[in-house]
Amino acid sequence: MTDTANSYNSLLKSQQVKALELRTSKAKERIKKLKSIKSWIEDNEEIICDALYSDFKKSRHETYLSEIMPMYGEIRYIIKNLKNWMYPKSVSVPLFFTGTSNIRIPQPKGNALIISPWNYPFLLTMKPVLSAIAAGCTVIIKPSELTENTSELIKKMMHELFTEDEITVITGGADTAIELQKLPFNHVFFTGSPKVGKLVMIAAAKNLASVTLELGGKSPTIVDETANLKEAAIKIAYGKFLNAGQTCIAPDYLFVHTKVKDKLLEEIQSYLKKLNDDPENYSKDYCRIINKGHFSRIVGLIKEAESEGAQVITGGHSRESDAFLEPTLLTQITPEMRIMKEEIFGPLLPVLEFTNLQEVTSFINKNEKPLALYIYSKNRGNQDFITKETSSGSVVINDFAIQFIYHGIPFGGINNSGTGYSGGEEGFKEFSHLKPVIKNHFSPSPLFYPPYTKFVKKLTRFAAKYLA
Ligand code: NAD
Repeated sequence: MTDTANSYNSLLKSQQVKALELRTSKAKERIKKLKSIKSWIEDNEEIICDALYSDFKKSRHETYLSEIMPMYGEIRYIIKNLKNWMYPKSVSVPLFFTGTSNIRIPQPKGNALIISPWNYPFLLTMKPVLSAIAAGCTVIIKPSELTENTSELIKKMMHELFTEDEITVITGGADTAIELQKLPFNHVFFTGSPKVGKLVMIAAAKNLASVTLELGGKSPTIVDETANLKEAAIKIAYGKFLNAGQTCIAPDYLFVHTKVKDKLLEEIQSYLKKLNDDPENYSKDYCRIINKGHFSRIVGLIKEAESEGAQVITGGHSRESDAFLEPTLLTQITPEMRIMKEEIFGPLLPVLEFTNLQEVTSFINKNEKPLALYIYSKNRGNQDFITKETSSGSVVINDFAIQFIYHGIPFGGINNSGTGYSGGEEGFKEFSHLKPVIKNHFSPSPLFYPPYTKFVKKLTRFAAKYLA
């Protein structure tokens, strides 16, 4: 075993001891920890904004809006509900088991590993940590290597608030994550790409660790002929170009009814013009592509699509020195283009037209199940048709991204876009085992035991018919 492997191993060993102590921790103790995180964030809001700005020039306000504010909301929501989530619940006693009682206790799974991405590096690392604390687990966090400043800050925060045997951060890249995954964690919570998600699931299988996979994919946005086009345009543009398109639930591509295509595109263009307050940088609040690799990948998608007949109708300007890429709209798109085959994860919006909703649903159904699906329509029939005919992690009608912060609504993907949920009670359950405890008071179950006399057989038949 290498020194690194040895040190990870002894770290987990110390967390395994701690997990036994946390197993019986009370809601009050867990809430105290959540409050300490909230206070730390309140005291360090500016420093958090600095870290994200250094990492990819993310606007300070956008960091507050999309990384800090949702943390406050989530902490408040957990604190308000934790006692109830932890409280043992019971089901009504089935007739066949008259004479028994039951409860279901949520017990912490134990030792958790959280692997997080770079695109919302603070929120997407810390949100599952809140769920793990609420559930009573220990955590090793492996944040993204691409947002070094934010990852170091999270490390500092956890170091100040927790002992290493409870929560700690190990920074590094894929190698670090792979080495960590050799250890027998009880639960692995991964947020990232479907490609790496598959590797995480394979590694977790070796220890039979349960997994939550929050993945990505191509999330469609559909605008029909009845939609409020101005409103749809603003929301689509905001959703697509927030974080420079580097959002897992961003509209990946747009399907618009032929009748309203020109009008919708005009509305999107006019909204983009309004935000364009700094022509060199598009907007002072507009962030950069995370690194040169992703920058060339996205620029490559534009070039390749153009060479195959696509037309850039807005934007397209890029600057390699600071990985700047303008919000870009592309038309004349065909499903065969690479831009329609892989998750874009950048500020490009390919536009496809339709005349019949069936074309849209069959296109979606031929591809991997998306994480999110957006519908802009006033027609209830169309909304229902798309919702029922397709499968996706979530559906949002006439809005963007609210599913991620909508307390009480489980957030997650399906198959290629993920498995399991994050946040709220569902997030708490991901880190908990719902353990049934059934007590026999005077149940006559031995009446069914051998020897299987005539009486036992008759009784079994009767029970099968009327009691089971
Ligand atoms: P990524 O999969 O490249 O990396 C995510 C994390 O996995 C990083 O910490 C990385 O170091 C680690 N990693 C790399 N190789 C690994 C391996 N072999 N085993 C274990 N861990 C490994 O993803 P990314 O580029 O950081 O993030 C972008 C992707 O994440 C997009 O696909 C996006 O849609 C998705 N995403 C999903 C959600 C969601 O909530 N569903 C949220 C944000 C991002």
